[in-house]
Amino acid sequence: MGMFERDTDIYRDRDALREDYQPEQLVGRDEELDTYRAALQPVINGEQPNNVFLYGKTGVGKTAATRYLLQHLQEDAAHYDDIELTVVALNCDGLTSSYQVATRLVNEFRDDTEQISTTGYPRASVYEMLWSELDECGGTILIVLDEVDHVEDDSILYQLPRARANGNLSTAKIGIVGISNDFSFRDDLSPKVRSSLCEQEIHFPAYDATDLQKILEQRVEVAFHDGVLDPGVIPLCAAYGAKDAGDARQSIDLLMKAGDLARDDDTERVAEEHVERGRRALERGRIKEGITGLTQHGHLVLYALLTLDLENEAPVRSRDVRPRYTRFAEMADRDPLVPRRMRDHLSELAMLGIISVTERNEGRRGGTYREYALDMDVDLLLDAMADTVQDVGVHQSVKEFLLEDPTDDFTDARVSDFAED
Ligand code: ADP
Ligand code: MG
Repeated sequence: MGMFERDTDIYRDRDALREDYQPEQLVGRDEELDTYRAALQPVINGEQPNNVFLYGKTGVGKTAATRYLLQHLQEDAAHYDDIELTVVALNCDGLTSSYQVATRLVNEFRDDTEQISTTGYPRASVYEMLWSELDECGGTILIVLDEVDHVEDDSILYQLPRARANGNLSTAKIGIVGISNDFSFRDDLSPKVRSSLCEQEIHFPAYDATDLQKILEQRVEVAFHDGVLDPGVIPLCAAYGAKDAGDARQSIDLLMKAGDLARDDDTERVAEEHVERGRRALERGRIKEGITGLTQHGHLVLYALLTLDLENEAPVRSRDVRPRYTRFAEMADRDPLVPRRMRDHLSELAMLGIISVTERNEGRRGGTYREYALDMDVDLLLDAMADTVQDVGVHQSVKEFLLEDPTDDFTDARVSDFAED
């Protein structure tokens, strides 16, 4: 046997659980798909397409439904000689302005040698280039702007739907499919943009546990060998998915994590215990990502609270976190923030689920105050803000967590002598 041996006991096709996998059928979205299909029907009739706007939280099937229908639309349109259909799909994550969207669209129509850079042209001339590319392409052009809520100005959303009416296009018939994960995006559009972009609006509601269970059952058929899942596994993944956000992506990720853990265990069955462990692992990953994304002051506030908690001082009020935070900031060579800003960091940590907050009443005279405590295990927190802990030094209360493990990076970190505070 070589060093690598193929594992085949659990998965039939693990890739079917990945983000980029497109299921052949969508489960339980008949109503939304009917409306969506009707909105695209004019394309087949050779008419000017409707603009469609899809909205709903992440993981509710908006992108999957779009890929599914547009693929069918392209296949079916190919049967009609008089229909020239072109579909251009852009994900706007990372594109913050209409200008960037317009340059990306221009480049979609151009050869590699004629690409334009994303800076350096006046906006009006990028739009001119776009109109001439669209007209040169001609026929019916569907432009999908997925995650369009990332685009901060609505110029392109105004210009595209009106390009024909404004005389910018003569031959091409264009339709826009806008997709948003953010509910407020639609309401924040100016009325003139909304009325043209949102000719047909389709809301994708969150999934409940029953929906998720059906989606998972379908996916399991493709991804896993028959009979390797204990009967409780799918219901448990579905229940967690429904509890979290009704997000199919999260449930599928959880199932994959459970499958991977079972595979690592060298067992031939995926059990509920693997789902439970998988959930904890994913949760830790999310929290770690959340902490890594904070500013250093966020870390300093968290480090201060963590050490107070370990000294059994928590739950603790903001004003009692302050002296230690100030001290840590100074040790890390940073100017401490004013109390209000420091409190904002506590609120943010609470919002991320990293620390817990309790409202308390100030007794008879009314008024409330908030108390904070840790809500995560210490190793995870220390690991996620390792750089800050290095900068401040190792506080007495966390020594045992950092110094007992010889493989830890902190063995040579300076162990600070903290004055009592
Ligand atoms: P959104 O675009 O709304 O954020 P996606 O379309 O990316 O969500 O869906 C998230 C994941 O869940 C994808 O892997 C997708 O294939 C799957 N999925 C969502 N809805 C369904 C469904 N109704 N049937 C089967 N798979 C689904
Ligand atoms: Mg999507």
